[in-house]
Amino acid sequence: GFGTNAAVEELVTPPVKISYTQHLINGQFVDSASGNCRTFPAYDPRTEKVIAHVAEADAEDVDRAVKAARKAFDEGPWPKMTAYERSLILLRFADLVDKHRDELAALETWNNGKPYEQAAKAELPSLARLFRYYAGWADKIHGMTMPADGHHHVQTLHEPIGVAGQIIPWNFPLIMFAWKVGPALACGNTIVLKTAEQTPLTALYAGKLFQEAGLPPGVLNIVSGYGPTAGAALASHMDVDKLAFTGSTETGKVVLQLAANSNLKPVTLELGGKSPFIVCEDANVDKAVELAHFALFFNQGQCCCAGSRTYVHERVYDEFVEKAKARALRRVVGDPFRKGVEQGPQIDSEQFKKVLRYIKSGVESDAKLECGGDRFGSRGYFVQPTVFSNVQDDMLIAQDEIFGPVQSILKFKDLKEVIQRSNTTRYGLAAGVFTQNIDTANTLSRGLRAGTVWVNCFDVFDAAIPFGGYKMSGIGREKGIYSLHNYLQVKAVVTPLKNPAW
Ligand code: NAD
Repeated sequence: GFGTNAAVEELVTPPVKISYTQHLINGQFVDSASGNCRTFPAYDPRTEKVIAHVAEADAEDVDRAVKAARKAFDEGPWPKMTAYERSLILLRFADLVDKHRDELAALETWNNGKPYEQAAKAELPSLARLFRYYAGWADKIHGMTMPADGHHHVQTLHEPIGVAGQIIPWNFPLIMFAWKVGPALACGNTIVLKTAEQTPLTALYAGKLFQEAGLPPGVLNIVSGYGPTAGAALASHMDVDKLAFTGSTETGKVVLQLAANSNLKPVTLELGGKSPFIVCEDANVDKAVELAHFALFFNQGQCCCAGSRTYVHERVYDEFVEKAKARALRRVVGDPFRKGVEQGPQIDSEQFKKVLRYIKSGVESDAKLECGGDRFGSRGYFVQPTVFSNVQDDMLIAQDEIFGPVQSILKFKDLKEVIQRSNTTRYGLAAGVFTQNIDTANTLSRGLRAGTVWVNCFDVFDAAIPFGGYKMSGIGREKGIYSLHNYLQVKAVVTPLKNPAW
């Protein structure tokens, strides 16, 4: 099984070179001020080898970046340019993303391990699309006038919030960059973005393209480094006006506290999940298997919204399990640069070990291991596509976010029961529903407590569709019109009317 045709032994040399490894502050690539030009290593998860030494920020560098963003906000020209001029810069950036698509995709695959075809054909086009979408919003952001008691002229101004601090994870480095940077810039803010320590490279390349697109210095500053140092310095900075974070629920709690304990900056959080994928009794089993497989295994299982609890109706359960196992055995694992490879390595040693620990816990808790269960090959962070059946709600593998290629299949009898079981989790990010019956689809969509319900589809991420979580999966929504609210202040301007009759 596991498409051994894609040999892990003969690795493709990445068709790109690493050009940007320093912080981008005030329009310049600069070394770390802290620790005498301190650096940290970036890895190739296929080989576990170091591929670059990247400037490592500490509080001092974060402060430099915030000062640059502050100055660019307070003195302009960015917030003072016309909205149309800002939108043109976002459009030029999107064109440059298209032009440099192959290098960006190669860099993403090299540093993250995701299949190159996925990066080049799906993620990079969606990055450009998202910036075009927000370019469209830039000159359509405006306030209202409203009648008020007493004779007053009342208007609201929707103003940029100021300096946005943004902390992103490693699973979709460029997509997360887009979801954060697109709306913040469209609204006229300036930014200090901290990338994940595992994946610092592509955001810096994108930062370079923004300079080329004509973004004024200091508007977008990018620092690399670790969470407890650089990330914490950003979250607790007194001159950052807003914080947006994507990552684990555990770290989400930390940054919310740091924000509260410093200057009460508003925080949006996009956190973990344990999303149900519900296969109803009327399902076409072959199609359900394929979609459930995609919902879980996409991006090496490293998706916050992964369909990681596959609930299958008892009437189709046995057939589903058999076919889900066969599909996982056909999954092509190997060098993500090779054509046809569906699954590359996990991001790093920590995640690799964590996934293997959860697999062990599944076996120990008497779930039935249908296939997989171990590492793939002998080097790199590759994990065999793994399927468990007979999973019970109280098992660890049904409760925790595994963030790896491990599918857990559970059996259910009726809709009321599956809604109740689906909602018995601290998370509420997404859900999948697979049925041909419109009433079943409506009942489930309304009953599930989750920020997204995908009916007969999964992982549809258009720029216009809001994304975010209920419960401990987060606070606020990203993408679409909803994300604009995160980056705007509303100012009410009230003026007495001298001649109310007119
Ligand atoms: P993490 O939440 O620790 O890291 C996410 C980002 O937060 C990174 O940029 C990191 O440097 C930063 N960070 C870490 N500690 C910080 C702190 N004290 N202050 C400020 N910033 C800090 O996630 P991780 O350790 O890389 O992964 C752990 C788990 O998180 C994964 O196994 C997975 O379950 C989950 N995860 C979720 C997502 C998502 O998209 N929701 C993404 C990545 C990881």
